[in-house]
Amino acid sequence: MWFFNSPEIVFGEESLSYLEQLEGKRAFIVTDAVIARLGHTARVKEALQAVGFDVAVFDRVEPDPSIETARAGAALMAEFQPDWIVGLGGGSSLDAAKAMWVLYERPDVDPEGINPIEKLGLRRKARFLAIPTTSGTGSETTWFIVLTSVAERRKLGLGSREAMPDVAILDPSFVMSMPPRVTADTGMDALTHAIEGFTCQWHNDFADGPCLKAAQLVFEYLPRAYKDGNDLEARTKMHNAACIAGMGFGNSSASLAHGMGHALGGVFHVPHGRAVSLFLPYVIEFCARGDAAGAAGSTHYGELAHFLNLPCATEPEAAAKVAAAIRQLQLALDQPRTIAACGIARGDLDHEMGLLVANASNDNQTITSTRIPDDVEMRRLFEYAYDGKTIDF
Ligand SMILES: [Zn+2]
Repeated sequence: MWFFNSPEIVFGEESLSYLEQLEGKRAFIVTDAVIARLGHTARVKEALQAVGFDVAVFDRVEPDPSIETARAGAALMAEFQPDWIVGLGGGSSLDAAKAMWVLYERPDVDPEGINPIEKLGLRRKARFLAIPTTSGTGSETTWFIVLTSVAERRKLGLGSREAMPDVAILDPSFVMSMPPRVTADTGMDALTHAIEGFTCQWHNDFADGPCLKAAQLVFEYLPRAYKDGNDLEARTKMHNAACIAGMGFGNSSASLAHGMGHALGGVFHVPHGRAVSLFLPYVIEFCARGDAAGAAGSTHYGELAHFLNLPCATEPEAAAKVAAAIRQLQLALDQPRTIAACGIARGDLDHEMGLLVANASNDNQTITSTRIPDDVEMRRLFEYAYDGKTIDF
């Protein structure tokens, strides 16, 4: 039994005016200090107040939000008793808001135990509206919740289908001021979602279409959005692409590049999109080699390459073409293409290798890969991605 889930999606210029139709009394905005400084929080707050809402704001979500932050926000929600939760920000704010929402509705639930199997019974107290201010995570259209365990230095991939937002508002005016580095990192996250959603074992008829379209949009519009932040068309297309990629991988899965990226980010604090996209071409090469050896589930890079207008005759050639196109895009965006280029010393990588291999292997995205590395192969993949020099897997 499979599902396709999505919120109602409001997109395009002026889509924030959707708030004029929102029915309710008390809204609780979850965001971070930067978004507040940019004036986005005030804009949303005023729009809600204009239609009669009482509004409370929690603006202390940190990058890689912790379980403690989720608990703190939920405690304030319990006092304020909102009937709408508004997640406003990047993936961190949206994920923190979802976790707070779960704990507000279900104070008895252990946040580390939020899982897709157990029924939560959300929406007895509030519904959830997401307004992303980056174009990448797709958190506005997935039910995933990524929190960080500070003590264990690892990311916790949690989620429940009930934690899917009810409404996502994709208003490009919220991303026009995104700095180029964030534009590149988050845009590459969207590309990784699209490609992993399409090439992992859980890909399916419903998710394939959104994944392909999102990949195409990112290749076409991300370089423009990066070079000129005022390019409204590129910003709008990338904002749509990130959400469409979210619809794709959210109903399929991310995969090995996310497993490895989560591990690297948990230890070395490399931003999520930069970390996962760094691994993407290496992982494609790894999976394609497994395919050539007949050692794993079959890949379908050929379909992807065909859709992206990359001429190729065979599956290995298609994988090589897709990996090369990703590396070319990384170059155009001044993205690091190796772990070394992220400023991580080889000695530090080797020192943390045991933890990296364990966390990447145990990450619940890794299991959907068409080729799942054993511990030796995982180590070799990290070593290959360190400098891009020696393929040994
Ligand atoms: Zn991601």
